[in-house]
Amino acid sequence: VAINEEEYTLDFMAALDLAVLLVGSNCLGALNHVLLSLQALRLKGLRPAAVVLMAPEEPEGLSAGERHDRERILADNPEFLRRRLAAWGEDAPVVVLPRVARLDAAGWQELADACAVLLPALSRHVPSLTGRQAPAGEEEPLPLRDRRILWHPYTSVVDPLPVFAAARSHHNRIVLDDGRELVDGMSSWWTAIHGYNHPRLVAAAQRQAGRMPHVMFGGLTHAPAVELGERLLTMLPQGLARVFLADSGSVSVEVALKMALQYQQGIGQKQRTCFLTPRGGYHGDTTGAMSVCDPVTGMHCLFTHMLPRQIFMERPSCRFDQPFDPASLDDARRIFAEQGERIAAVILEPLVQGAGGMWFYHPDYLRGMARLCREHGALLVFDEIATGFGRTGTLFAAERAGVCPDILCCGKALTGGVMTLAATACTEEVAQGICRDGMVFMHGPTFMGNALACAVACASLDILAEGRWQEQVAMLETALTAGLAPCRELPQVEDVRVLGSIGVVETTRPVNMAAMQDFFVRRGVWIRPFNRLVYVMPPYVSPREDVERLCAAMHDVLSLPGMLA
Ligand SMILES: *Cc1c(COP(=O)(O)O)cnc(C)c1O
Repeated sequence: VAINEEEYTLDFMAALDLAVLLVGSNCLGALNHVLLSLQALRLKGLRPAAVVLMAPEEPEGLSAGERHDRERILADNPEFLRRRLAAWGEDAPVVVLPRVARLDAAGWQELADACAVLLPALSRHVPSLTGRQAPAGEEEPLPLRDRRILWHPYTSVVDPLPVFAAARSHHNRIVLDDGRELVDGMSSWWTAIHGYNHPRLVAAAQRQAGRMPHVMFGGLTHAPAVELGERLLTMLPQGLARVFLADSGSVSVEVALKMALQYQQGIGQKQRTCFLTPRGGYHGDTTGAMSVCDPVTGMHCLFTHMLPRQIFMERPSCRFDQPFDPASLDDARRIFAEQGERIAAVILEPLVQGAGGMWFYHPDYLRGMARLCREHGALLVFDEIATGFGRTGTLFAAERAGVCPDILCCGKALTGGVMTLAATACTEEVAQGICRDGMVFMHGPTFMGNALACAVACASLDILAEGRWQEQVAMLETALTAGLAPCRELPQVEDVRVLGSIGVVETTRPVNMAAMQDFFVRRGVWIRPFNRLVYVMPPYVSPREDVERLCAAMHDVLSLPGMLA
């Protein structure tokens, strides 16, 4: 039932997060109503605790044969529902309530007896129904169970940072399993640009899941993959022509590196086996990607013997918001002059160095770098995994520089944060070079072109193509700029910078992550700082007052003692 223009009773039930008791009538034709209601619950991620069927009144004047048929149908309804629920893996009991002749004490007793089986089913969701809390041990908190067996990103199992249990999400909110609702400032690491559980993304996933979640991409293709490739090429910088669908950002970087190496071999430049990349970069955690991450923060010392040796140049030094300084390309120019013939490609994150320091630099650097690459026979690879799909204020960061790279990686926001998927696009020239003399491109992940992920990505790109992201990101930029300005006055703050919908406060010393995270959660916001960076990149759909809340929380946490190491 619709409550208003946007919400249904289902949303209300989801918000309450109590046990769901589905009541239907046990009559001819009622089965489809009950089944549709069950289906609606399932699609909303709600599970029925129990199903109750009410016995109908018996029509008068039935013949013995008619009565017999009717009784058989009514007896079959609950049986059918039980089989259906079992097939879905639901353990909700199906209870048929008798029709009592009179609601006297005996009538009530009869109903109560029939309902007895409901109590344990419901009390699993509502412990207070039975007047006692669930016994300890039976319902051990998730973080404790997690802590015994699971790894988290970049953490120790011996001394892990605390984790919070998330139960559900909607719009720009993450709801913890204790009911606390947090304003999200992270878009789950750049991904959930349209907010969580966007109805069009959820519908696309459900539609594709019911039709064909995945088939191998060797020898087979399908509409979601082809349509995604076509849509991407209309959005990516002009000049890119071929798309490789990878399963994560790191893999798309591996693919880009292999493309560059195979291209150079294909055109007879076999000595070009190295990559040139700026310090402060981040390109992923797989081996090839790690080799081009910043050699210090990327912890190269742990893997020295395994990583290919690449060439590092100074990080782009001129700020985004200051006039371009041509000297910022001097180091690149020197390296190209000295060992340019070894370089297969330059790989960098255009405009924003993300996980390597949230550093925003001048777009002219990219124009200069493109020229150097062309002069010295190196390819240019843009890693737009973080910057892609509108985050910096243009659809891709490359647009600001008016540069089309030879190879471009995107991922993260590609599916609007629903599924893991990435893509590596290259120019026709690169593709033809790779495939010269009967060569093939040597990569093919098992889950390449995953139909479920492609279908969701198509829906996400459709939402982007409608263009509302532009005003949303512009509003976020204004709100972040105003909201974070007071942080400049704080002694613990080194720098404040905003670009598009990314807001960064750099601190003078590394943050105390656990203390800060705890403060933020108590303030009702989800912000995850690291190293000397407290930063946000909220979902594009975030209301202005929520952005103000994020900024105020960042300011207040940095005003407190004990928040820096
Ligand atoms: C996140 C990121 C990656 C790695 O992507 P994963 O999906 O985590 O493998 C690579 N490059 C950049 C710029 C990123 O931000």
